[in-house]
Amino acid sequence: MTVSSSTNADIDAVAALLKHAERVLFITGAGISADSGLPTYRGIGGLYHERLTAEGLTIEEALSGEMMAQRPDISWRYIGEIESNCRGAKPSAAHLRIADLEAEKPGVWVLTQNVDGLHRMAGSEKVIQIHGTVHHLRCTECPHQRSVHDFAGLDLPPACPVCGGVLRPDIVLFGEMLPQKGLDQLTHVLESGVDLIVSIGTTSVFPYISGPVWWAQQNGIPSVEINPGDTEVSDIVDYRLRMGAADAMTQLWARMHELP
Ligand SMILES: [Zn+2]
Repeated sequence: MTVSSSTNADIDAVAALLKHAERVLFITGAGISADSGLPTYRGIGGLYHERLTAEGLTIEEALSGEMMAQRPDISWRYIGEIESNCRGAKPSAAHLRIADLEAEKPGVWVLTQNVDGLHRMAGSEKVIQIHGTVHHLRCTECPHQRSVHDFAGLDLPPACPVCGGVLRPDIVLFGEMLPQKGLDQLTHVLESGVDLIVSIGTTSVFPYISGPVWWAQQNGIPSVEINPGDTEVSDIVDYRLRMGAADAMTQLWARMHELP
């Protein structure tokens, strides 16, 4: 890919920031998984962006906490579709370079909206999966929970082996609260100090996703956005790389290791 000279200068500047930062918060969304062949959808609903399900529901209705309580068969039908789209996906170069960076710098954290689990598959350990992950199931009736590699061979909706209740994936459905644990982790990371914030592949429509970027701007902490299009935070970041996630992270990784 050819890049303009201004983009080249920005890549050099961001590479220098990354090299010298010790505590970096990466905020990632669907765009980082696009290079892994996953559709870019907004949150967990974008596979049905602007079309109704077979039941005549919006995807937000089908994937709501209320629907999971009343008609888990309907919610599970679409959760199953989302999972089958994720199945077999491999981490992209962007996921891998972020994991490499964490290995070099223990102060690297990831806040992700993605439920595909690719950051952990890439080797990142300090990951806040704010919307949960489809790879963890929990019972809606009792404390039983378990991890699954994928949904292959599961009867949907799956029944709890302990009490017979309905199992559900540990993801945040529409209309549900964010898990307090994830929010607490994010607060802890920000309060412990951050030298650089890098937002990748997210339109930043949720306040808890754009919030850290605003916080950085108000506190004089440098911020970077990597996204091909315009987003809610494009005007407030210090550097914008209008590039795909894998391309940008590959180039940044190479340049930061060439710097003296
Ligand atoms: Zn149970």
